[in-house]
Formats: sequence, structure tokens, C-alpha cells
Amino acid sequence: MRQLIVIGSGPAGYTAAIYAARANLSPLVIASSVEAGGELMNTTEVENFPGFPEAVMGPDLMTKMQEQAERFGAEIRYDDVTALELDGPVKRVTLGSGTVEEAEAVIFATGSAYRKLGVDGEERLAGRGVSWCATCDGFFFRDRVIAVAGGGDSAMEEATFLTKFASKVYVIHRRGELRASKIMQARAEANEKIEFVWNSEIAEILGGDAVTGVVVRSTIDGSTRELPLDGLFVAIGNDPRTHLVHDQLQLTSEGTVQVEGRSSRTSIPGVFAAGDVIDPTYRQAITAAGSGAAAALDAEHYLAALDDAGEPAPDTDQIQGLAEAAAI
Ligand code: NAP
Repeated sequence: MRQLIVIGSGPAGYTAAIYAARANLSPLVIASSVEAGGELMNTTEVENFPGFPEAVMGPDLMTKMQEQAERFGAEIRYDDVTALELDGPVKRVTLGSGTVEEAEAVIFATGSAYRKLGVDGEERLAGRGVSWCATCDGFFFRDRVIAVAGGGDSAMEEATFLTKFASKVYVIHRRGELRASKIMQARAEANEKIEFVWNSEIAEILGGDAVTGVVVRSTIDGSTRELPLDGLFVAIGNDPRTHLVHDQLQLTSEGTVQVEGRSSRTSIPGVFAAGDVIDPTYRQAITAAGSGAAAALDAEHYLAALDDAGEPAPDTDQIQGLAEAAAI
């Protein structure tokens, strides 16, 4: 049986793997079969990760984190977790390939998934003009008219990036002011190709084989109008990916995995959580990385206490002092 399995390969998962590997825990990282590297794989320049004054491309940053984890002995598996048994001293992780991996401790760092609008046409036209990833699909919209839904940093980043290809980019936002940071707002507002559609929500996405437009509804008076478009990028935030654990771990009212205080300890001893899946507030690459480090330290102390105590696993209280001392 392994000592530690890390589920997830974003900044939280890989940072946990780097720390755990350096502590000789030989972690197995389940990196996903198609989404290895997490959200930053869909990003262009990351300008705010310390240590990269000239910015770094998201995929390059993730490749470096992966290489750093492997250098210290982490094993990366490109597979998906299909089921988890977390109760009891032996944690069982079932993979898409059918393999069942066992470990004494698990770090759950599955991040978050793109939020959907939940309107007519969205599912049907996904991949036919509706996208959640500008860096993946922007290229297909050269000289086209498109829109971005949302008013946060993601929407500003996507809209600004998409002006490289599109002839015009509408930003459709449900309020009269943006949630995005000032610098991202200023960049979008200064871009001639971007036009804001304020106080508006998308009521329906139109099109047969491909997107031809959207029905925009005013959030002030409920009136509707059609806006012709060739594509729509949805950038309205993310929801924590908890479907594998929602019936096993305690969740918060915001839907994130509940952890004790500033630690990564979940409601089950030996199960730790890190990154966007526990964070409804900050959700930055750097905060996820810090949280991954804390999870690895918590897991390391848990495993050391387990070694000292022998079976059965010690309860959370026994190792709380140690883990608190280690928490960052
Ligand atoms: P976010 O900050 O939660 O913003 C989501 C936006 O979508 C908000 O403007 C929200 O409107 C809107 N929205 C949510 N649900 C909606 C719905 N059903 N219909 C229409 N609009 C909806 O999410 P985010 O922009 O993805 O950013 C997430 C985190 O990542 C943030 O902490 C952000 O700073 C960070 N981030 C940073 C960078 C960067 O620094 N380079 C880039 C991307 C993201 P309301 O404003 O009305 O709530």
C-alpha cells in the first residue's frame, strides 16, 4: 500500500506532490486523462505568479511544477478517478482504467469546473460556437463577431485575448459594474474591439448547427432583444469539483470541501483537501499552491503519527497539535 495519493494536478496538486515527494512519501498523483495541469493549461500569460517578472505561460508553469514533482520522486498517472472509498485507515481510489490504488492518506485537489449559464441552446451548441476556453477555441473566430458572458477577471481576460482574432467582442454582464480587478477592467475598457452590454443576461442561445446569436434580457426591465453572434464564450466563474466526495466529506454552504480552520484536514482522518476545492474566496494559482503545501505537511504529520501509533489510525485530535504547528 502507498503512503499518499494526490488527486488533481493543478497548482495545489503539484505543490502537494513536490512537498510530499521531498518528504520521501513517494506520492502517486492522479493527474486526469484529459485535464492534466488544471485550469492554467487553458490560460495564456500568468502575470501575477511570483518569480516570473516577465510573466509565464500557464501551460509552461504547470509543466515546470510537474517536472519539479517528478524530480523528487512523485509518480504521475494520466487517469481519472471514478470512485473513492475514504472511510477507514485504507483509502481506495478507483481509476478509469479499472485499477484500484490504496493509500494511507489522500490529498484531494480537484479544483473547480467551469460554471454553465443553464439556458436553452447551451448544451446543444457546446463546441459549435459555445465555448468555455478562449485559448482553446479563440483561433476559430478570426474576423467573427463574438460575445463573452461574465464580469469577472476571467471574462476580461478572455475578452481581451479574443480581440486578437475576432472583429468585435461584446461583454455581456448582468450588472452595471464589473467584478474584475481594476487592471483587467482598464485593459478591456481601453480595447476598441470590446463593447460592453450592461445589465443584461443571456436568456437563450440561438442557432441550428452553429451559434447565430443570443437572446439578451435586460436585468432592469426584463425586455429582450436578439444579438447576432458567431460565438459565445462563457466566463462566469467556477464551481468546486466535489462530485466524487459529496456523500463522504462534509461540505460548506458554499459547496467547497470543509476543512478545519487553516488546515487542510477534512471531516475524515487521513483525507486532506487543497486548492480551489476548499476555497470560495481567493482562488488564485499562488493561494492554491500554498494550500497544496499545507496539505502535504498535514499529510506528512498524519502519516508520521500513524507510524508512531501503529494501527488503528490516530484520530484527528491526536495529530491536531502537530498539524497546526505545520500549517501555514
Ligand atoms: P468570478 O470572479 O466569480 O466572476 C464571475 C462573473 O460572472 C461575475 O461577474 C458574475 O456576475 C458573473 N456570473 C456568475 N454567474 C452568472 C450567471 N449565472 N449568469 C451571468 N453572469 C454570471 O469568476 P472568475 O472571473 O472566473 O474569477 C475567479 C477567480 O479567479 C477570481 O478570484 C479572479 O480574480 C481569479 N482570476 C484571476 C485572473 C488573473 O489575475 N489573471 C484571471 C482569471 C481569474 P456578478 O459580478 O454579478 O456576480
